[in-house]
Amino acid sequence: MPISDYIVTIGLEVHCQIKSKSKMFCGCATSFGEEPNSNICPVCLGLPGALPVLNKHAIEQTILAGMMLECSTPEISKWDRKNYFYPDMPKNFQLTQFDLPLCIGGGVPLYDLAYPKEIQNEIPSPGKVVKLTRIHLEEDVAKSTHHSNNSTIDFNRAGTPLMEIVSDPDIETPEQAYAYLKSLQQILVYGGISDADMEKGQMRCDVNVSLRPHGQVELGEKVELKNLNSISAVRSSLYYEIQRQAEELDAGITQIQSTRRWDADIGETQMMRTKEDAHDYRYFPEPDLLPIKTAQLVEKMRSHVPELPHHKRARFEQDFGLSPYDADVLTSDQHLADYFEEAAKEPKLGKKVANWITNSVLAKLNEDNITIQECPLPAAHILELAKLVEAGAVSNNQARDVFAELWKKPSVSPAEQSKAMGFEPADTGAIESIIDEVINLNPDKVAEIQAGNEKLLNFLTGQVMKASKGKANPKMVTDCLKGKIL
Ligand code: ZN
Ligand code: MN
Repeated sequence: MPISDYIVTIGLEVHCQIKSKSKMFCGCATSFGEEPNSNICPVCLGLPGALPVLNKHAIEQTILAGMMLECSTPEISKWDRKNYFYPDMPKNFQLTQFDLPLCIGGGVPLYDLAYPKEIQNEIPSPGKVVKLTRIHLEEDVAKSTHHSNNSTIDFNRAGTPLMEIVSDPDIETPEQAYAYLKSLQQILVYGGISDADMEKGQMRCDVNVSLRPHGQVELGEKVELKNLNSISAVRSSLYYEIQRQAEELDAGITQIQSTRRWDADIGETQMMRTKEDAHDYRYFPEPDLLPIKTAQLVEKMRSHVPELPHHKRARFEQDFGLSPYDADVLTSDQHLADYFEEAAKEPKLGKKVANWITNSVLAKLNEDNITIQECPLPAAHILELAKLVEAGAVSNNQARDVFAELWKKPSVSPAEQSKAMGFEPADTGAIESIIDEVINLNPDKVAEIQAGNEKLLNFLTGQVMKASKGKANPKMVTDCLKGKIL
């Protein structure tokens, strides 16, 4: 059977490090790249008898994430031990949350630009919101490195606050999984909760995927893909795995619940273990930590919820008349959105300003390989440039030249720069006499224009531009010609 004869069901578990100066259950620093085993204490080393102390900031940030994702927060949340032999967790359990997590339900709205580029024009279910099951808080484990003859372990990472965001099996395609991660990342960055950079290991992802034939109600046996470390790896591994399962099902091989790893070099998934070897974590309540009463924290965090990306998008469309695409681009990054809003202080020029940013500014940032935060050009310059064009002081082409110069010397104002480049229409009298001359030299064209062929206005405008050596403003010239001829 072709793959389209199967219903694909995907669920994602995302582990995301919370931005926090200290660890989840002790005061050790979370800073990166330091001497191995320098930020450690008896608690994060898991020494017997060490007592955990809660990191309030991490709890608040998790609640904030829940609010941004429209989850609900149970009044009481508690801590549990997940028992397991972890080489990188010597106390042999992970402190986590089992039956009373900090957040329940909610969803991640997928935005168009979050999908892979090739399919942005034909998104199957636009506006989809992927439902979430829960978000809980736990501790990260240490980092072990395997060498040829031995392994080493660094406990600096052990105990870093880690949020686990579990989606419902609500995702249907590898592209949706891709868009889900991008959209989730965006929200976490907007909230200042995490930088959610997968390359830096701040966000890690496990994927569950199963296939079932159309008409079958219960889900197929699921396969879990562990430790995917990039968004594109999630997409590629899903492609492979869906194909693999479909071929096996076609051949009459029933799937068994299992865990596989993705080998990016070979481009295939490999069996790690089946359900028979599945661990029974024997969760039980952590005796050294009291449950949390969440009401006050929820109240406090309410005022910290920032404007959500999809709300910002809608507002940009409405207030500035932006196209959904431009609004998507400008809100893709919070700093870019801020830059736009600063430049769009005059909302009626919002669209023009948006064009300058999405075309010229982004192209330049890309060329110079810098971020919007490093943009040399103050946002106010963009507005001023748009105003100069609007007032007819410079043409669009001239403004582009001004822009290119300003990028190199941002302390000069757009007006000064255009004057310096000779674009200021200082001598309107001189331009007007050129216009009169061009009209006199082209009586046949003028007659044709008067007979209705207004396209020829462009020709006359071109003649004036040439005679003025590019100093005149084409829009003003055309207007003036119209006034004189029609
Ligand atoms: Zn510690
Ligand atoms: Mn976990």
